[in-house]
Amino acid sequence: MTEHSNSILLALRKIIEKVSAKRTFEEAVNSLVEEIRIATGADCCSLYIKVAHRKVLKLSATDGLQKDSIGKATLEIGEGLVGLVAKKQELINLADAPSHPNFKYMPDVGEDEFSSFLGVPILNQGEILGVLVIQCKEKRVFGEQEETLLITLSAQIASTISLNRSIKVNEELKVMRYKGKKGSGSIAIAQAVVYKPPVTFENIQIMYADDKDIQSELFHQTMFQLQMEMDKANLYLQENRHDMAASGYMSGYGSMLDDPEFEEEVDAEIFNKGYAATSAVKIVAMHRIEDALHQGDDDKARDMRDFISILISRLVHLAPKETDLSSPVVVVVQSMPAALVAEMTKDKIAGFVCLDSSTSAHTSILARDLGIPAVIGVNLDIADIDGRTIIVDGQNSEVLVDPPSSLLDEYTQLIAINKKENNLFEKGKTDPAVTLDGKRITVQLNAGLDHKDTDFSGQIDGIGLYRTEISFMLCDKFPSEEQQTFWYKNLLSRFKGIQVCMRTLDVGGDKSLSYLPIEENNPALGWRGIRVLIDQPNIFKTQLRAMIAAQKDFGNLEVMVPMVSRLEEVLITKRILNEAIGELEKEYDTPIKRPRFGIMIEVPCVGLMMDELASECDFFSIGSNDLISYMFAADRNNPKVSKLFDAFNPAAVRYFKYLSARAKSLQRPISVCGEIAGSPLGCLLLLSLGYTTLSMNYSQIAMVKYIIRNVDLAELIALGKRALALNSSVKIKQLYIEYMKEKGLYWIVQSKSVG
Ligand code: PEP
Ligand code: MG
Repeated sequence: MTEHSNSILLALRKIIEKVSAKRTFEEAVNSLVEEIRIATGADCCSLYIKVAHRKVLKLSATDGLQKDSIGKATLEIGEGLVGLVAKKQELINLADAPSHPNFKYMPDVGEDEFSSFLGVPILNQGEILGVLVIQCKEKRVFGEQEETLLITLSAQIASTISLNRSIKVNEELKVMRYKGKKGSGSIAIAQAVVYKPPVTFENIQIMYADDKDIQSELFHQTMFQLQMEMDKANLYLQENRHDMAASGYMSGYGSMLDDPEFEEEVDAEIFNKGYAATSAVKIVAMHRIEDALHQGDDDKARDMRDFISILISRLVHLAPKETDLSSPVVVVVQSMPAALVAEMTKDKIAGFVCLDSSTSAHTSILARDLGIPAVIGVNLDIADIDGRTIIVDGQNSEVLVDPPSSLLDEYTQLIAINKKENNLFEKGKTDPAVTLDGKRITVQLNAGLDHKDTDFSGQIDGIGLYRTEISFMLCDKFPSEEQQTFWYKNLLSRFKGIQVCMRTLDVGGDKSLSYLPIEENNPALGWRGIRVLIDQPNIFKTQLRAMIAAQKDFGNLEVMVPMVSRLEEVLITKRILNEAIGELEKEYDTPIKRPRFGIMIEVPCVGLMMDELASECDFFSIGSNDLISYMFAADRNNPKVSKLFDAFNPAAVRYFKYLSARAKSLQRPISVCGEIAGSPLGCLLLLSLGYTTLSMNYSQIAMVKYIIRNVDLAELIALGKRALALNSSVKIKQLYIEYMKEKGLYWIVQSKSVG
């Protein structure tokens, strides 16, 4: 045996002895890199392990790089020198690594000082499991001895990594993993709390019960509990004046709770006629509601109905379990009433999961608006979920129940990474969105809730889409003109000085109002958006009057109409708008500023009528959610066809270009307010096709501004031209991915699309 092979064997034996004495996999790999570094005299030794089912290598242990990059620094197979070793499954030995064309500088990892690089693949039965690397500050080619040591050790540890992976996979297999139809936001880990919807007045059955004393006791106890709650709520209202919904709700409580006859009558129904408490309450209430209606007091009747619904709901659920909301929870619901989402306080709700997907379009928009991780359309057993630990992965539309500690660690790390990234975006959130070549991009907000606690100053250039239907969804009847004027005034005054584009009521399709039920076989192609408003001119006129009246003192209103498919719809809208303005000018006896008027491009046929439409409007706004869906006749929430919903499809790309060019030649501004505008690759696609106004949800604003500040518009325009000549979505998307990599932005796409 030569001296050379002898010293390798000695080093090997020492390393293997030390590593195999370790109890856990993590301890073993940490010891491995440390021992290799010492044995080879290198300045750094690192181990990258391939993530199961993904083409990504993750820094798993290091002696020499930043320790806090462990588990965070990742490279795709083929990316950087480490990725190249994995891709080629061959050793790479370089004296001057930074000069290699595949070298990738990873900020925060601490590689700056190293010159030489030796990387060997870790293989098991031809499958790449990882890469073992040593690095030196000095520019030197590693010798045969170091190469042999690394190759031998990589073969040794391959089986350990493989074993560890199968243990992890087995652990992960045990976890209950549920795929949802739609997800939004990032990741939440918390305890699940099942929300039980209130039993409604209508759906309570009339039933009899033998245990009369118990039924009566239950009823009185519930009344007492409600009385206490009302006292508490009144106190709260005195301290925090709530202008809207609360007042009606509270008066309903008051009138019934203070009425001793009500309790006597319910007791009489229980004891004399043998009704169960819920039925007795319903019967007594029905008489009272009829009386109120008879007297023409609709408000009193409505208040009573509301109160009775709450009372019955409490009786059925027998005083709902007190939920410990001291730390945030994941709310799990069968179907998610928009009102519930709107009431969610961000600090109490970590995430939410909604089982039904059919009625939840706006629920998910609301969740996104609030920045709460959410998954919708999940087929899990709601009866068996309360109190369990749950991971809501909004990025991958996935819910994990009772995850093992390895997965909890992995997701906790992802949350920490997201937080770090968000902090980076947040730092520049009030800086203007100016590209590297000095072009100012207009970044607007899509809103629907009032975001009371957010200070938007400097963050947004206007509201590009205000979804008025969301406030309608929070009511149980059509809001009056006064009520709407009050809402819109609040909004316009809050955003004084910047334009607020209010979209007229957009219901139908997947957005419904409880008081305007629309039952159709094919709702996406049915009575929705402007079609409803034109058929219901009173509703339309009321809303337009409220908007105009609200803007009298502010002048920052824009009005926009959804789902336009014919010129006639715009002409009718303008007639009603003119009538509203004329009436209000008379009533106020003063001229009123006309709001700028816009048309949404959501139905593809509009693109072929832009000449005529341009002479009737001040601007266009693309609702890409509906537009792409109608272009490809594909519902993005239907997993069977969702891949057809593709903004990078050559047809979509060419159509977007056509629309921006057409609007430009007609001298009408055009913006995009669909969700593509707020996605990392989507916003680049739009910029490259000539769009300079993008409107998005609040949670995306800071990120998109960060991206804009790190790209060059002239380069993007050139990229757009290349994209227009390509014939496949994959090739087009790849162009933008490469561009993001070039600009050091690709990590944003990765972190927003993988879990
Ligand atoms: C759209 O369709 O892109 C749009 C903005 O409208 P909504 O998502 O409210 O239908
Ligand atoms: Mg739409």
